[in-house]
Amino acid sequence: MSVFSGKCLCGNVSYQCHSEPKAIFNCHCEDCRRATGSVFGTNLFVPETKVEISGKVSSYSHISDSGSTMTKRFCPNCGSLLFGSNSAKPNVVSIRAGTVDQLALIKPQINLFMDKKVPSTSIDENLKQASRMP
Ligand SMILES: [Zn+2]
Ligand SMILES: [Zn+2]
Repeated sequence: MSVFSGKCLCGNVSYQCHSEPKAIFNCHCEDCRRATGSVFGTNLFVPETKVEISGKVSSYSHISDSGSTMTKRFCPNCGSLLFGSNSAKPNVVSIRAGTVDQLALIKPQINLFMDKKVPSTSIDENLKQASRMP
């Protein structure tokens, strides 16, 4: 039994996750904005071994401001960004919240890179805030 599941826009890539999210962040950094095409990205962090992916994904790697290699995995057919990993945090996968089927599960705990956010983006003041990655 999976805890949650998800898929890309066209459905060629889907996944089952067998763990509760260990953390959920809203990230307002420039990389998340450009990668998602949205004003911020929401990520669910889970242990890599707990995610079962079906379908072919393409990947793109780049170097973050902190110098680690960030790898993004997306559907080669429809372009939906689904997964991310960070060389500084091995064995952890981030799952883009917009691909998750169980909407009630998406409860961000913190807003990151607040100094980079789009000024018009409203923020839930009840959540923690940070100017960078904790
Ligand atoms: Zn797709
Ligand atoms: Zn980010």
